[in-house]
Amino acid sequence: MQSGRSGALPGIHFPGSAREAASPSFPPSGGVLTMSDRKLAFLYSPEVEALSYPPECPFKIQRAGLTRLRLKSFGLLGDENRFEVSPRRATLAELKQFHTAPYLHELQHAAAGDLTVEGLGMGIGGVDTPVFKDMFECGDWACGAGFAAADLLLQAKADIAFNLLGGFHHAMADRAAGFCYLNDVALACMKLADAGKRVLYLDVDAHQGDGVQSAFHRRNDVMTISLHESGRTLFPWGGFEDEIGDGAGRGYNVNVPLPAETYDEAFLTAFDSVAVPLATAFNPDVLVLELGLDILAGDPLTHLRMTNNVVVEIAERLLRLNCPILVAGGGGYHVENTVRGWALAWRTFCGGNDEYDFALGMGGVMLASTEWAGGLRDRALAVSAEQRRAVEPELRSTIETVINNVFPLHGLAAPSLGGRQVRSG
Ligand SMILES: [Zn+2]
Repeated sequence: MQSGRSGALPGIHFPGSAREAASPSFPPSGGVLTMSDRKLAFLYSPEVEALSYPPECPFKIQRAGLTRLRLKSFGLLGDENRFEVSPRRATLAELKQFHTAPYLHELQHAAAGDLTVEGLGMGIGGVDTPVFKDMFECGDWACGAGFAAADLLLQAKADIAFNLLGGFHHAMADRAAGFCYLNDVALACMKLADAGKRVLYLDVDAHQGDGVQSAFHRRNDVMTISLHESGRTLFPWGGFEDEIGDGAGRGYNVNVPLPAETYDEAFLTAFDSVAVPLATAFNPDVLVLELGLDILAGDPLTHLRMTNNVVVEIAERLLRLNCPILVAGGGGYHVENTVRGWALAWRTFCGGNDEYDFALGMGGVMLASTEWAGGLRDRALAVSAEQRRAVEPELRSTIETVINNVFPLHGLAAPSLGGRQVRSG
């Protein structure tokens, strides 16, 4: 399932429409598995149904179960190629591969109602890291599911494994942050790297993947690329374009801060200009995708303005890498939008299209109209001239800086952006 290296140098492409933005840099799609032979696994256990964050906390662990139900109702889960796998909880020994023993000790004690001064000093018990009974178990299940997903990919039992219980990318080795206590994605990347794989970690959550960055910023066997709302306007207040890794990891830690109000086409321009050429050059054996859907317009915690159509565009590009993919959840605080977007991602990775969606969503009756009618895709959002003026110059400058900082380290040319515009279709 490994792709060949592309010989073509990538060029900056400001597309006339999202459809035209399909990257020329990935290997041609001829080798992509079809819907009939691609195997997708959904990691889920009924045991997590009893777990919950505090009701006042915007993070809802129930989104994974709701997505599972949505997929079942669409007939997209529950056959030999699209199946469920029950994970187990991670062991303490497994968690210690990233987290420190004192931190795990404090986290377990806090969950049992015993928050100490040491625990507070590790970020436990903050506004975005509340103390609650299930705080250790939620993360422990997420990490166990991440390991199970990695195993399925390593053993070629699945081509794509969804762990929507996970995506806790802010958790540091010895610190809780941003609703994250145990970092399932860092641990899954470690497991895959320990198996000798070249791992690409791609994070499109609205927040920067700072915990994963901290785990790998000195390594070149795990490349991390995070596209996120700029740290000038959003937690964790970092992830700027000059953060590119250290030592052996220099150039293998990539950050693309996006201006507030970034819309689909602007995002795809950044994705195609930076992530696609770097991913192609890195030529990963396996991809870990953090698919936080707090990027969608209407999310109560962030300021981006994307629709879930961008999820389809991302998934289609990643399939052209022709490597196994672990899809982790992450943010997404508008629950219905997040669930629908994750279901759309699953369907796209399956190889399903909109006709399939409409046929199933309407009880088998095909609609003549392509208007949104209860299907999975969002309607396109209009982009105002003012929004365009607020996003384009800043984004162009960011892309140029990232390319100049990172591309030469991978033998990639740094093409000039010229005066071309990010235009809408
Ligand atoms: Zn987020």
